[in-house]
Amino acid sequence: MAIRKIAQLGNPVLRRRAEQVPPAELGSTKIQDLIDDMIDTMRDASGAGIAAPQVEESLRIAVIEVKDNPRYPTFPPIPLTILVNPVIEPLLVGPADPLRDDEAITLFEGCLSVTGVRGRVRRPRKVRVRALDRVGRAFEAVCVGVPAAVFQHELDHLDGVLFVDRADPRSLTFLAEYERFVPEELRVVDGIGPR
Ligand code: ZN
Repeated sequence: MAIRKIAQLGNPVLRRRAEQVPPAELGSTKIQDLIDDMIDTMRDASGAGIAAPQVEESLRIAVIEVKDNPRYPTFPPIPLTILVNPVIEPLLVGPADPLRDDEAITLFEGCLSVTGVRGRVRRPRKVRVRALDRVGRAFEAVCVGVPAAVFQHELDHLDGVLFVDRADPRSLTFLAEYERFVPEELRVVDGIGPR
């Protein structure tokens, strides 16, 4: 178990489409150590999640956990979740573009690979995620609200997409200015659609 260095904005690994993990290799020491290291690295950096490209491994693996997170004090807890080869789909009644207000969540996101920056991103507030867990069992979950945004952020990394690509560019803010100028009620604006 080890804490790995986190790739920063500009590192090409963050822009690559990550490779599927061959199921036969999931049990290997290399992959299992990688998953352990991702968990350690995420917890050490107080991330809500981390994707393998962020530790310079271009593989479709992400880990997510929120537990008394000092970087995101208002986020609800999310139990430790390990996603291998995940597939995500928005669960929408209306169109994807433009998203209906009651089917959207708009929140200021940050990223361990974009140190010190936050920006406002609007996403579907309900998604279904299917993946394998670390021992190859099928995992499926429907996430609503903040967890849906966290899952989308992490799985974007597997396609080389960063939150700054999706953020309203005029909302980008350094962390100190975010703390100073973004009122609590604008940090997470969740739609009011059905749960
Ligand atoms: Zn990120």
